[in-house]
Parts: sequence; C-alpha cells; structure tokens
Amino acid sequence: MQACDVSSGSWDQFLEYMKENSSATAFENWFAPIVLIEESAENIKLEVPNIFVQEYILSNYKEELCSFLPVLPSGELAIEFTINERHQTTNSPTVVTGTPAIATRDSEYSMKLNPFYQFQNFIGGPSNEFARSAALGVATNPGRSYNPLFIHGGVGLGKTHLLHAIGHHIVHEHKKLRIQCITTEAFINDIVDSLRSKSVDKMKRFYRSLDILLVDDIQFLQNRLNFEEEFCNTFESLINQNKQIVIACDKPPVQLKLSERLVARMEWGLVAHIGIPELETRVAILQHKAEQKGLKLSSKVAFYIAEHIYSNVRQLEGAVNKLSAHCRLLKEDITEELVERALSQMLQSVPHQEKISVEQILKSVAAVFQVRVSDLRGSSRAKDVALPRQVAMYLAKEMINESLVILAVSFGKTHSTILHACKSIEAKVENDEMLKRRIEMARRNVAND
Ligand code: ADP
Ligand code: MG
Repeated sequence: MQACDVSSGSWDQFLEYMKENSSATAFENWFAPIVLIEESAENIKLEVPNIFVQEYILSNYKEELCSFLPVLPSGELAIEFTINERHQTTNSPTVVTGTPAIATRDSEYSMKLNPFYQFQNFIGGPSNEFARSAALGVATNPGRSYNPLFIHGGVGLGKTHLLHAIGHHIVHEHKKLRIQCITTEAFINDIVDSLRSKSVDKMKRFYRSLDILLVDDIQFLQNRLNFEEEFCNTFESLINQNKQIVIACDKPPVQLKLSERLVARMEWGLVAHIGIPELETRVAILQHKAEQKGLKLSSKVAFYIAEHIYSNVRQLEGAVNKLSAHCRLLKEDITEELVERALSQMLQSVPHQEKISVEQILKSVAAVFQVRVSDLRGSSRAKDVALPRQVAMYLAKEMINESLVILAVSFGKTHSTILHACKSIEAKVENDEMLKRRIEMARRNVAND
C-alpha cells in the first residue's frame, strides 16, 4: 500500500485555501511571511515575523486554521509560534493551547508529553486491551505491579500514546514522583551532551534517582554498544530499587540485537503486545478522532473507511484530517463517494480472505467464455479455447502471488508459455473492449467466489 502521510501538507492546504479565499493583499500581509518550521499530525510549528501577525491570524482566521491544522482535545489549536529572531529581540515560543504542550518536571532534562496521548483518548479493543490495562496498572501503582513493562507492536498502533498516557497519569496523580519519558535517541543525546560538558555524574545521578522511567523506541539502542552499557546500568540500578520502567519497541525483546543480559532483564516483567485493531475498534477510533475535529461521520462511512484502512491507526487519523480539509474546501457532506475520492490513495483494497487457486480462476474463466474447464486444461489450439486459456494464465499471474514456475506447473505448461500468454492478452485488451469486459467479469467472479 502506498505510504501517505496526510498530516504533511496541511499547512500547504491551508495556504492554498487562503490564497483562493482572501484578497491578495491580505494573503501577502498575513500568510506569505509565515514560515513552516515543523508539521505533524499532532501539532505544527510556525515562525511569524512578529506577535501581531500571530494575534491577527488567530483572531481573524481561527475557524479556517482549525479546519486544516491540528487541534487539541480541548478544541484549541495545537500551533507553536516562534517569533523570527531577525525581527525581534526574543524568540521565546508561545504555545497556543489550553493545556501546556510540554509537561516539564526538571529544568535540565525536560520531558515532552503529547497532550493528546492520554488514557481517555485511547480506544480499547481486543488488539490492545492487554497492553492498555497493563499500562493503566503501572500508572496507578508504579513499581508495584509489572516491572519492567515492555510494550511492543508495529508502527502507528499506539505504543507512544500509551507511554505518554502513563506519563500524564503520573504527573497528575503522583505529583511527588520523579518521572522521565524519553526516546532512546534523546537518552543517547543526553549521554553525549554530558560527556561533552563533563557532567556524566550529574546525568547518571538524574537518571538513577528517577521513580519512573519511560523509554520509547528501544530498538534504536541496537548496534550502539557504548550506550547500551550505560542504559543497562541505569536500568539495573532503577529495577534494583523497585523503580518503575516501561519500554516501548517495534519488536519483542527476543528479537532485539542487544546483549543477552539486557534482553533477559527486559523479559523479567510483563511483555505486552499491541496488534492491529479489529474493524469495530477502528470504527470507534475513527469516530473518536472525527468528533475531536468536529466532523460528523455516519457509521456507514466510518465502517467504509475502517474496512479499507486497516493496518495503522495513524493512517486512520490521517483520513479524518484529510476528510475534514475536503469538506471545508468543497462544502460537501461526507458520503462514501466523497470518501473514495478524497482518500483514494490511502484506501487499501479489502484483502482476500483466502488464497486464490488456479482451479477457481479456471472455473470462472470457463463460465464467462462458455467453455469447459477440461478444455482449458487441455492443449487444443482451437481459438475459442486457446484465448480463454491465455486469459486464465493472465489472471493467475495477476491474482496469485506465486512464481511463474509454480503457476506453470499448475497449468501443466512451461513458464515461457505463461509469459507469452500474459503478453499476448495485454496486447489484445488494448484494442478489444469486449475482451477487456469479459476478463473483468472473470476477475470479479474469482474475487466473489
Ligand atoms: P506507535 O508509537 O505505536 O508507532 P503512536 O502511539 O504514535 O504509535 O500512535 C499513532 C497515532 O495513532 C497516534 O496519534 C495515536 O494517538 C493514535 N492511536 C493509536 N492507537 C490508538 C487507540 N487505540 N485509540 C486512539 N488513538 C490511537
Ligand atoms: Mg512511537
């Protein structure tokens, strides 16, 4: 499936919309000077020439901004503004949010928690219920339930979300506890910085005095030998003091290329897997995300999207963002037809539940071309049999994920016969509308078999 990060480009879409819908002067004054610094599905960083531009666009174009750019659950825009240094003496960022985007506990080793990633925004379902409950258990009783908790699963399935949710819960409910939530990359950077500024002891003291350490994407520790050792020491020091550790990773501990000692330690506590959410969970996630965007999504449309986008929650979110921009631009209701148009790149075709067999293809082709399956299997060169036989080979190559050699065996032919058949049909359908339709019919019959 085509990777499609719909979040990238929301700022461009917004600019495009404003260009069409505001005067040239207004556009040049207010929007053209803004520089996009960073953009993700959750927030966006913009550099403005001065505070007036920031205030002006916020008071006059809030509705348009909300339609295109990320918003917080509170409905506030998740835009971080920076004033361009060349124009101002200060460039301290102002976060335009109801709640702070960054929860900071320690001035030197700051902790960034995404305000969206909280337990109440995490939709549970059979695929993630175990990991969610374990995360909640750890957040409620840190150091006393599962230690370490190791959460693993594919990309975009909610690992970081759960890690941050634990962070938020602890910041609010256990105010006295010292917590750090960090990516493996940032941990490595802290080590490098401390080496450079000769403050290694201070860094070690900081990490080893934590009550809770949340580490994201531990797979990035692979092949970083020196850092692995430091991480391992920190890990053991904390575990020995019954301090809570939670780790997120894209694979289970055993598949990590890390020292046996560290892998064994990671398996000590609880290993929880997050899988791909089931259809009903995907629908619930879609409806939750749409609600947050103020988008009305009928359950028919939600099911339609969820049936077609099934491997990654981030893409479901992307779909909601994209739809919201489309509705805004075209002022249309969300129908299946609009969804199909707006999301054509993202929609995956529904996977075939079962592998298609050569037999199925032969049956379907025989029915459409009014011949017998045994004729297709035979070697008669009569045109009314030879053509459908070639069609069957052509469809088999297209619909069955096997090598030519294996397909050839199923047809009792050589692989060059199959290749020749495919080329011949490809050439014929160019000018033969009738043949094209019959092939399409046979293809559909196989798919619906
Ligand atoms: P990972 O770290 O596993 O790659 P993330 O935690 O970054 O994935 O999740 C990707 C996006 O999908 C995030 O915006 C997150 O909020 C959302 N998401 C994932 N799972 C869920 C869920 N069960 N309910 C709501 N949102 C989810
Ligand atoms: Mg992640």
